[in-house]
Amino acid sequence: MSTAHAPAPATALTAPTPTAALRERLSLLAGQAATSGADAILISPGADMRYLLGHAVASHERLTCLVVPADGAPHLLVPTLERPGWDGTPAEELDLAISTWTDGQDPYVALADALSEACAGDARVLGVDYYMPAMHALGVQAAVPGSELTLAGEAIAELRMRKDPAEVAALQAVGAAIDRVQQRIGEWLRPGRTENEVAADIAAAIVEEGHARADFVIVGSGPNGASPHHDASDRVIGAGEPVVIDIGGPAPSGYYSDCTRTYVTGGSAAGGAVDPHVREVYEVVRAAQAAGVAAARVGATAESVDAAARSVIAEAGYGQFFITRTGHGIGLEVHEHPYMVSGNTRLIEPGMAFSVEPGIYLPGKFGVRIEDIVVAGPDGPILCNNAPTDLIVLD
Ligand code: ZN
Ligand code: ZN
Repeated sequence: MSTAHAPAPATALTAPTPTAALRERLSLLAGQAATSGADAILISPGADMRYLLGHAVASHERLTCLVVPADGAPHLLVPTLERPGWDGTPAEELDLAISTWTDGQDPYVALADALSEACAGDARVLGVDYYMPAMHALGVQAAVPGSELTLAGEAIAELRMRKDPAEVAALQAVGAAIDRVQQRIGEWLRPGRTENEVAADIAAAIVEEGHARADFVIVGSGPNGASPHHDASDRVIGAGEPVVIDIGGPAPSGYYSDCTRTYVTGGSAAGGAVDPHVREVYEVVRAAQAAGVAAARVGATAESVDAAARSVIAEAGYGQFFITRTGHGIGLEVHEHPYMVSGNTRLIEPGMAFSVEPGIYLPGKFGVRIEDIVVAGPDGPILCNNAPTDLIVLD
């Protein structure tokens, strides 16, 4: 297995997407619209819009919508008061018609007009992204007589799942940033502090190390570690406890980090000794995680990555306590396609990026999870996280 790679340049934390790449994405999405039987795909603010236009705006009750017809030129409809925010963005270089609607007008009529202008024929089948607010989706459906809505999330994911070299560099750079935070956990994680106190310090460090913001900071001490999506609480962390630290957020580039390590606190008080049960469970998870990473190869199925990690845990007798899928895709969203889960027979292709994060969750006792992001490379998995995975016993 080759996991060697040149470190991504620090500029990859902020690098904008070249206009040529955006133009290509719009053209590929038009092809996806045609393949999926949609006359147009409608994209609302969010990761999909950022991926296609290189610019992010907030989603709210005022309608902003990118229209990508199967046959025709893309069109962007924005509220008049937000039009200045698009000045100087890549959208202006993309041969994109930009029209506006003003408070007091019906935005869905404006969108129906944009559709008839953008599409060569009648726009009847409209594909909407996963996260378009229902008020907008139903509003446009009502404004276009005879129209039918379909979900275009998977058609869009077909583009986003395979990362190009600049996206891989962005994931490596933000992965290195979160590794630096994991390697500083001993500065903050100590017995006698609450999970919330530790989480606040970690969140500040996530930004210090180059993220745009901390998106999630899970500090799961003792029994709280047995809840995979525990956040952080006022629980006071005890000595000798395993603590699950799962942290991440977007870089200014928009690309996310997501990395988990499990630590044991208060080692010096216990003379460096670790509860043998914790040690045993930890080593099972560590072996499962390594098996999952090794299985993350081009040509393997997504479910085989899950099976590789799961079989190690099952053989050790902890199968019923591995209550999550093994991983999720990652990019401009922290969870996106492809999912490493039983039943997903999709083949892994070069450039697919996803987490490998098996865990064992023992209710009322403790949990252990280890998570790295990997990219399927032509010569094997490329790790975006390189913090050590051996059990770290903190003072
Ligand atoms: Zn994850
Ligand atoms: Zn995570």
